[in-house]
Amino acid sequence: MSQAKRIEPDPPIRDPRDSEHLDVWGFADSGFALTPNGEVTFTGDRYPISGKVMPDFLPWARETLDSPLAADDVHESHYPTPIPERVANAAFETELAAGLRAEQIESDPRVRLRHGHGHTQEEMWAIKYGRVTRVPDLVVSPESDAQVRAIVALAQRHRVCLIPYGGGTNVTEALRCPRDERRCIVSVDMRRMNRVLWIDPENRTACIEAGANGREIAEVLARNGYTIGHEPDSYEFSTLGGWVATHASGMKKNRYGNIEDIVLGVTAVTSSGDLARDAAPARESVGGDPARWLFGSEGRLGIVTRAVVKVRPLPEVQKHGSVIFSDLETGFAFVRDVQRAGIVPASIRLMDNLQFQFGQALKPRKQGFAVWKSRLEKFFVTRVKGLAVDRMVACTLLFEGTRAEVAAQERAVYRIAARHRGIKGGAENGQRGYALTFAIAYIRDFMMHHHVLAESFETAVPWSQCVAMIQNVKQRLWQEHAKRGLPGKPFVSARVTQLYETGVCVYFYFAFYARGVEHASEVYAELERAAREEILRSGGSLSHHHGVGKLRQRFLPAIFSPAALAWREGLKRAVDPDDVFGCAN
Ligand SMILES: Cc1cc2nc3c(=O)[nH]c(=O)nc-3n(C[C@H](O)[C@H](O)[C@H](O)COP(=O)(O)OP(=O)(O)OC[C@H]3O[C@@H](n4cnc5c(N)ncnc54)[C@H](O)[C@@H]3O)c2cc1C
Repeated sequence: MSQAKRIEPDPPIRDPRDSEHLDVWGFADSGFALTPNGEVTFTGDRYPISGKVMPDFLPWARETLDSPLAADDVHESHYPTPIPERVANAAFETELAAGLRAEQIESDPRVRLRHGHGHTQEEMWAIKYGRVTRVPDLVVSPESDAQVRAIVALAQRHRVCLIPYGGGTNVTEALRCPRDERRCIVSVDMRRMNRVLWIDPENRTACIEAGANGREIAEVLARNGYTIGHEPDSYEFSTLGGWVATHASGMKKNRYGNIEDIVLGVTAVTSSGDLARDAAPARESVGGDPARWLFGSEGRLGIVTRAVVKVRPLPEVQKHGSVIFSDLETGFAFVRDVQRAGIVPASIRLMDNLQFQFGQALKPRKQGFAVWKSRLEKFFVTRVKGLAVDRMVACTLLFEGTRAEVAAQERAVYRIAARHRGIKGGAENGQRGYALTFAIAYIRDFMMHHHVLAESFETAVPWSQCVAMIQNVKQRLWQEHAKRGLPGKPFVSARVTQLYETGVCVYFYFAFYARGVEHASEVYAELERAAREEILRSGGSLSHHHGVGKLRQRFLPAIFSPAALAWREGLKRAVDPDDVFGCAN
């Protein structure tokens, strides 16, 4: 049988400037900051807003949150919080050291602390203002499947607990170490296994190591003319293994699919043997395929070491767009009609009014002609077209494909928009909105520094229940905030991000000013749980793509029958009888 000719690409290019913050989100050279005259700016030069001053942001945020947000109103971080005594396992460590280079084994407290958390509000609060009860005792960085296999075998022999680590970007406390784990906990950092092993142009597949992050995968594939198309907002740091383990979804899923649509075959190392299959049939009717168990396994079954994925040639054309509608209901009817017409752009995201305002407030200072242009646009939208500034919503669009495909999509989508009296907001605003999500990831840490706690959480909901669910969740959070007499006004905003035939994914953004609130982080967590209760009560799902981790575990009985929960446990015991992967997710 002849095998299609494969490309074996060079490794990803590492840029020394790409080092990451340990105590806040993102690249070390990037983040929101205050200028000497108290305006907001963004450091570095990676993003469109880098180096720009955004004079409207603080006044808008002060009014919206009814809080001071002043230069001298800061909550100084005590990072790094002290970590508990290390639990050693001398026999394991001796054998480990015999098989790996010294620099593959790390016990530095800050590195261990970083490997013991993701990016939930509670975790980020704990490392700066609180305490962590347990962190990994060691971090190991394997460089091959054989090394992963050896680490798992050693862990099993010496009763060590392993927790796989990808990019550490999860938002479900999936990496938080179980408080009562008495064994030595070892974080297995997969990031050195970051190569695209091969690309098969004929069959449009690629085999990629699990520790490769989205940025590395995009760079290597693009160098060879391809794309994976999976682009979660965290893709600069999150990894292929993490995407599989959390059952992730990207911004361009309408064109490329979710991770389960993109991945054809998974290779994993478990304590009861390997799951090794690089075969990637287009479809296979075998039932009970163990590879599928890995989706959403959150590190509790084994370590994904690589996967065969679908790739596509880089799109000939990539075009942004945006449309403004009078209110959420109208914007919602527009996205529903786009879905029903069956011509959905790679990305289509509908922001509610508050989020639209948020995006406007983050616009850089304009000069010269741009000031007049902006005033004219505003005049046209509000005076000529009569849209209310406190009701209008915006939809950002990203079209990808061949020139003909994109032209057809644009025609169809803008025709539907016109039926809903949508006003074209232009490509520049669409691109800004799309790119802003990467920069916005940094804002939570900036706000936390100014006593504001914030988080986003997602759900999937049927079309028929979406608008009501959004209203119910907003109302519930306002009520819970008022009931506790919390300071200021809560910020609760929603965004429709992914479309399906039967429903949509909705993100909520929730923030409040917490200065003087006792146990503020726990209070926030209580409110987030109330929101989740309301989501479930209003027809939403437990998760759309963030997963369950430890954060949402308490809600599992609300969605699974006792028998279904027992099957899950039975599977875990069968695959990992000694609980080597004892992350307790
Ligand atoms: C700003 C921001 C934006 C985000 N946007 C999105 C988004 O658009 N879409 C989305 O789906 N998610 C999003 N997330 C959530 C997060 O990025 C995803 O859950 C991501 O898939 C986690 O990948 P990771 O490599 O960082 O995994 P980690 O956080 O390191 O780990 C997550 C879980 O997976 C396990 N794991 C990691 N690697 C492996 C492996 N090789 N084998 C077995 N288990 C493993 C870990 O043990 C842990 O249980 C976002 C998060 C943030 C902070």
